[in-house]
Amino acid sequence: MRIDLHTHSRASDGTQSPAEVMRAAADAGLDVVALTDHDTSQGWAEAAEAAAEVGIDLVPGIEISTVYEGRGVHLLAYLPDPADPELLTALGRVLDGRNSRVPAILQRLREAGVHLTVDDVRRVASGTPATGRPHVADALVALGVVADRAEAFERFLNPGRPGYASRHAESLIEMIPRVVAAGGVPVIAHPWGRSARRVLTESAFADLRDLGLAGIEVDHEDHDPATRSALRGIAANLGFVVTGSSDYHGTGKVDHDLGCNTTAPEELARIRELAHLARAGR
Ligand SMILES: [Zn+2]
Ligand SMILES: [Zn+2]
Repeated sequence: MRIDLHTHSRASDGTQSPAEVMRAAADAGLDVVALTDHDTSQGWAEAAEAAAEVGIDLVPGIEISTVYEGRGVHLLAYLPDPADPELLTALGRVLDGRNSRVPAILQRLREAGVHLTVDDVRRVASGTPATGRPHVADALVALGVVADRAEAFERFLNPGRPGYASRHAESLIEMIPRVVAAGGVPVIAHPWGRSARRVLTESAFADLRDLGLAGIEVDHEDHDPATRSALRGIAANLGFVVTGSSDYHGTGKVDHDLGCNTTAPEELARIRELAHLARAGR
């Protein structure tokens, strides 16, 4: 059984519709796939319909933008109730922050001599509720300013570059229990793939476990073999679920092909069991 627990569609910053992601997952020989768009469950219904058609199992999820000790941390929430009022309110704050970030980025780009309008960004964002830096990057590509998303981030959009603007993210410490209260299972995405490596120490993970953190994504392309083995050790010490996934974005992110990393069936079974317990405890 091949299980990939982290993918994106056009409901956030992927390049395919939710149905296309499900068909691509079936073509890639996956049996189970999670759709985990940033800060929204908007793609779930379309994905569920397509998954049923192609005979794969969909795990609905959301990758939530949070902050811990001043660093950005992505939190995967599996199987939460998407209508949970507190979760919806928190996600609404994140989406508002994402959308209001775009004008701030465009202002800074203008000051750097690059003229891009909100409409240029909207044109490449095709109806997502969460416009953000990847869409600004796509607009820069569409206008021929840069060759691809990677160049857009390196030259303009990463921290320290002329088009960077920070934005609102929810507190990780508050979001973990909120996901559990919504019947979901919280797992930290690529914990040592980004800037948060220094703050997400083993003792920090232990504190987060006490708040309800259930697992960590160990097998991710941002982690080299040494990083994976260190994280696997921490997961074993703390009793965490261990996941692996592609973080697929269609053509929006290279070297993240569907199924390039996978999750063991017994780990998925633990996630389902924890979701069952979280729902029962509501
Ligand atoms: Zn992420
Ligand atoms: Zn992701």
